[in-house]
Amino acid sequence: MDAFSAKDDGALFAEGVSLETLADAVGTPVYVYSAGKLRERYRALADSLAGQPALAGALVAFAVKSNPNLSVLGVLGQQGCGADTVSEGEIRRAMTAGIPADRIVFSGVGKTDAELAFAIRSGVRQINVESAPELERLIAVAATEGASPAIVFRVNPAVGAGGHEKITTGGEGDKFGAPVAEVMALYARAAASPHVTPVGLACHIGSQITDLTPLKAAWAVLRAMTMELRAQGLSVERLDLGGGLGVPYRPGETPPSLADYAALAAEAVEGLNVEAAFEPGRMISAEAGVLLASAIQVTERPDGRRFLVLDAAMNDLMRPALYDAFHAIEPVRWRDGSARLYDVVGPVCESGDTFAKGRDLPPIQAGDRVVFRTAGAYGAAMSNQYNSRPLVPEVLVDGDAWRVVRKRPTFDEMVAAET
Ligand SMILES: *Cc1c(COP(=O)(O)O)cnc(C)c1O
Repeated sequence: MDAFSAKDDGALFAEGVSLETLADAVGTPVYVYSAGKLRERYRALADSLAGQPALAGALVAFAVKSNPNLSVLGVLGQQGCGADTVSEGEIRRAMTAGIPADRIVFSGVGKTDAELAFAIRSGVRQINVESAPELERLIAVAATEGASPAIVFRVNPAVGAGGHEKITTGGEGDKFGAPVAEVMALYARAAASPHVTPVGLACHIGSQITDLTPLKAAWAVLRAMTMELRAQGLSVERLDLGGGLGVPYRPGETPPSLADYAALAAEAVEGLNVEAAFEPGRMISAEAGVLLASAIQVTERPDGRRFLVLDAAMNDLMRPALYDAFHAIEPVRWRDGSARLYDVVGPVCESGDTFAKGRDLPPIQAGDRVVFRTAGAYGAAMSNQYNSRPLVPEVLVDGDAWRVVRKRPTFDEMVAAET
């Protein structure tokens, strides 16, 4: 489904709800999510995996960091989706949204002792351990807790991938995961401890991956390690194949199909008789959201440059400033007239507060509404109050119904924690 498409009179809707109506009711900027699209993306992945016998019973753990809104997590949790979390706050969010602890994976480079203790007490499915010092701290914490949590080692397979240097995580020089030889030693060390139960291996090599080749290479590393560990008499029951699958941001982009992705994963675990897990974030949430904004003004310069100044800014959608990311921008209602080139900017006092340079758009006037497409992942999740701008609100649409699922704070709420 195209969750955000033009209806009757040519203006954009979110499912059955007019974006103009939403903008009038809630104000802008605002993120708008489609519950139908979230379910569709989760189901498409779950069904593709289910089509592969080697992946029977695979866990899909949604990467909470891509979109941590409680209602978004609730929609996915109701479908049977689990959660991949990277902080105590994310574990709490997943559980608050109704995702059972036995479907929650706890990942992250720098989990504190307090967070490890919290994860153990919460009974999460597994803790993904990323380094030797973390293993030692976890053993000490688990001993105090009188527990022996299931752990999986995150391997750095020395295969990086992803749409930008800042979202590559599996390269040799990246901070994530432990090198292969180190994991082999740590696994035996963990198996010898009564305070942890090593059950498998994990990798996550990057985000916005648009070519399956690096995934194939990384998963082959996990497969070889599994056989090697088993040859040493160690038990490997789970392989967590990570997330990272890309989505189309530009018209005409075609990321790998879910069928090909599932087939490749099945090949990687074929005959190993392991439980597979996946940690998709962007692939589920990106296309289920738009950022809806209004034009404050159009500023023309003598040299012909034309700035479209929006009421949304880099604090609401950081990806262009952080990763030079591209988001399709289009008006909610098209005006007649030939396209023009705009530099699309926000009001924040940073030159980096530029969403697009020289973007071809139909004529736009002050007060017109525009959307940023494919903004459901790493959009609101990364928003902040820079320039004392209120945190951007969020709306969830489901069919013809909608509700505010994060309200815009008042000024008093913004400063409530300050003295
Ligand atoms: C961010 C992250 C993911 C999700 O990445 P996407 O590109 O959004 O799919 C999965 N696993 C881990 C450990 C992560 O840090």
